[in-house]
Amino acid sequence: ETPLLEVNNLKTGFKIDKEFHNAVNGVSFSVKKRQIVGVVGESGCGKSVMSLSIMKLLPKGIGQITGGEIKFEGKNLAKLSDKEMNKVRGKEISMIFQEPMTSLNPVFTIGFQIEEAMFNHMKLSKAEARKKSIALLKSVGISRPDKIVEEYPHQLSGGMRQRVMIAIAIACQPKLLIADEPTTALDVTVQAQILELLKDIQEKNEMSIILITHDLGVVAETCDEVIVMYAGNIVERTNVEALFYDPKHPYTNLLLGSIPKLEGETDRLASIKGIVPSLKNMPAFGCRFTDRCPKAMEDCKHITPQLARVSDGHEVSCLLYEESYPIESVR
Ligand code: SF4
Ligand code: MG
Repeated sequence: ETPLLEVNNLKTGFKIDKEFHNAVNGVSFSVKKRQIVGVVGESGCGKSVMSLSIMKLLPKGIGQITGGEIKFEGKNLAKLSDKEMNKVRGKEISMIFQEPMTSLNPVFTIGFQIEEAMFNHMKLSKAEARKKSIALLKSVGISRPDKIVEEYPHQLSGGMRQRVMIAIAIACQPKLLIADEPTTALDVTVQAQILELLKDIQEKNEMSIILITHDLGVVAETCDEVIVMYAGNIVERTNVEALFYDPKHPYTNLLLGSIPKLEGETDRLASIKGIVPSLKNMPAFGCRFTDRCPKAMEDCKHITPQLARVSDGHEVSCLLYEESYPIESVR
């Protein structure tokens, strides 16, 4: 089966002080039909930039795709004009974000905003659109949808607003939904409900999802495959079982080690020492994790590891796993 989405060697740069710096540094992965792929890593690892690149929603004049392909059903999105991309966005691929309040317009009713999303891509009468938006709200678990369509974003709770955003995102039945930290701003019980909802919709609509999160608990509950990103690179890619039972990359191991043992602890990744290098200070070669890696060796500063297969469907980018690298003894 050909994948729904195939990203090949994607590079996205950001302009800082008149210079371009790669925020996504040659990333390759694919998403199959009906698959949920998680993307994990700390903030600043390029997760959001990667998804904004796929949507072609990079800030104009600042962010730019500088190389590679984004093949969606065989068509390279990287090459599409704004006008052509408008036909894809919201119809074939949709996106939801962390804070639904900023994505919803405070001056329009919920119904208006869902219907606007439909009118962009479908020919419908106002009455048909209203009927559809009520049905959509119901499908995302909102009770009394006929009342909610008339309400404004500030009248709803955070969880309700995220449900509305999901309704807008799926209004045109996209084949791919990109969800960037969709539950991060919500409290724990609501988080679980929204994840359940996403899984439900994924099944019903036979949709694929890219789920961006810093929360490995979310990954465990939701995803089929996982991509671990660090400093603009994919450092490990595998299925969800192997991620938890057979993690390879030192960064993945640290992420797993930082899953909180106590309930209520929130800053889950705080226990990894050091920070992700900033775009301006990205080392030109060598492994970008060297400064923070407990297994770093002298060569890690000089040799850039490549993402390579360690077993079926499991890829890692670390010198410890490179066959040509003579370190059998430390593996
Ligand atoms: Fe650590 Fe070296 Fe592997 Fe990078 S290449 S993750 S620094 S051991
Ligand atoms: Mg982000």
